[in-house]
Amino acid sequence: MNAEALLSRLEGVRESQPGQWTAKCPAHEDRSPSLSVRESEDGKVLVTCFAGCSVYDIVAAVGLEITDLFPPRVEIAHHTPKAKRMPLPDAWHCAQFEIGVVLIAAEDIAKGKALSEDDMKRLRDAVRKLRAIDEAAYGTG
Ligand SMILES: [Zn+2]
Repeated sequence: MNAEALLSRLEGVRESQPGQWTAKCPAHEDRSPSLSVRESEDGKVLVTCFAGCSVYDIVAAVGLEITDLFPPRVEIAHHTPKAKRMPLPDAWHCAQFEIGVVLIAAEDIAKGKALSEDDMKRLRDAVRKLRAIDEAAYGTG
C-alpha cells in the first residue's frame, strides 16, 4: 500500500512537505491534526500520532491492518537450482583433448624432460578444464 490509500481514509490531510503529510488522528478526538504520515524510501508507510495513539489503533480506526502499511513482500529465491549434470558422452568428448595434453606432459615428465613454460601453462589449463568437466559430469563432493 502507498500512503495515498491511508490518506484517503483520513480527515484534514495536508501535505507538510513532499512525501509527508499531517492529518487528524482517527484513533482519538483530534481537533488539530496530530497525525504524521510519511512514506519511507522502501515503501513503508510510517504513521505517528503526537497524542500517543498506537499505530495499531490508528490503522484499525480506518479499517486497515498493520500489514497494509508495508509494501507487498517480494519473494527472493536464495537458492539457485542445481546445475544440470553434463551427460557422460559429452564430458568424455570435452575431456579427450585435455587428457591428450596431460598425457603428453606426463610422458615428458616420465622421461625426465623438463616442461617448457608454455607446456606447463597448457598443462595447468588442461587440469583446470578436466576438473571442471569432472564436476559437471559427476558433481562436487
Ligand atoms: Zn491519536
